[in-house]
Amino acid sequence: MKKHNFYAGPSILPEFTIKNTADAILDFYGTGLSLMEVSHRGKEFVAVMDEAQDLFKELLNIPEGYHVLFLGGGASTQFAMIPFNFMSKKAAYLNTGAWANKATKEAKGFGEVIEVASSADTTYNYIPKGYDIPADADYFHITTNNTIYGTEIHNDMDINIPLIADMSSDIFSRPIDISKYTLIYGGAQKNLAPSGIAFVIVKEDALGKTDNFIPTMLDYKTHIKGGSMFNTPPVVPIFAALQTLKWLKAQGGVEAMYKRNVDKANVLYTEIDTNPMFKGTVLDKADRSIMNICFVMNDGYEQYEKEFMEFATAKGMIGIKGHRSVGGFRASTYNALPKESVEALVACMQEFKNQKS
Ligand SMILES: *Cc1c(COP(=O)(O)O)cnc(C)c1O
Repeated sequence: MKKHNFYAGPSILPEFTIKNTADAILDFYGTGLSLMEVSHRGKEFVAVMDEAQDLFKELLNIPEGYHVLFLGGGASTQFAMIPFNFMSKKAAYLNTGAWANKATKEAKGFGEVIEVASSADTTYNYIPKGYDIPADADYFHITTNNTIYGTEIHNDMDINIPLIADMSSDIFSRPIDISKYTLIYGGAQKNLAPSGIAFVIVKEDALGKTDNFIPTMLDYKTHIKGGSMFNTPPVVPIFAALQTLKWLKAQGGVEAMYKRNVDKANVLYTEIDTNPMFKGTVLDKADRSIMNICFVMNDGYEQYEKEFMEFATAKGMIGIKGHRSVGGFRASTYNALPKESVEALVACMQEFKNQKS
């Protein structure tokens, strides 16, 4: 039976990525050696790194003056690297969920942290609006897609201080105006590659403005200077990321991806909103994520939660259990998830409703 992979992360990757990476692990570009056993400074791997950085820039239309880095330590290490590199005394954070909180916690070690707004009051089921950003903060940090709660900031903000964004779970899902951001980062394992790297897009001239002592490995300048190869980089995830980038380009790039993602999300949200057995957890449609779609059993049907999970699992749906802090169900509809999988989930929901009514 075909499996439909709705895992939130690590998550579905294009078959193209998995197959080419598997081939390179056995024989890297005809060298007769594995990708895992060659020098990262050899010409074959250097070409992989260069092409991955170039294609990353091309697909997101990244302007001059920005660098693309692939660093170990996941998005979570970025939570600390950001204040190390950008915070002198004060930073502003938008509290939209667990990941935003983890980022905020690290900044607190560097000075004053202003939480400009929070949606914690309703388990983060909306994106706060109408808040003030302190003009004297060193930067403003946002999490554009809240993987756990299914909310998303869909626009690129215009603000007067440096904007830093965690885009772990929505990078490459839509076109972005990079020029609005000083730094964008994320773990690769949601939309790009297997775990093991974080991607970072950083504006070079915004660096070097704090007096913080920055440990060498946590200094973005180290990695810019080293071409993202100051030390041995995670070669397998970087190779896989290059395959996903090639696949993205062949699919028509981020504009085409965005159309497909909106279409997939609409199909599932429409079912959630019209099937009487289910309801969405994010009520304001403008805040709904197109990458992580959260829903629960509707009022009066709560007792069917476990039964629906078993029903859907038996039909090949994988990874639809909601995060424990939200409950219910979460379908992650990342770039590589085909529309066919969304349609299969919708068919499950309809069949279940017909059985029960
Ligand atoms: C998954 C995730 C992270 C954590 O990524 P790691 O690479 O595991 O550190 C951070 N932020 C968001 C929004 C995420 O979805």
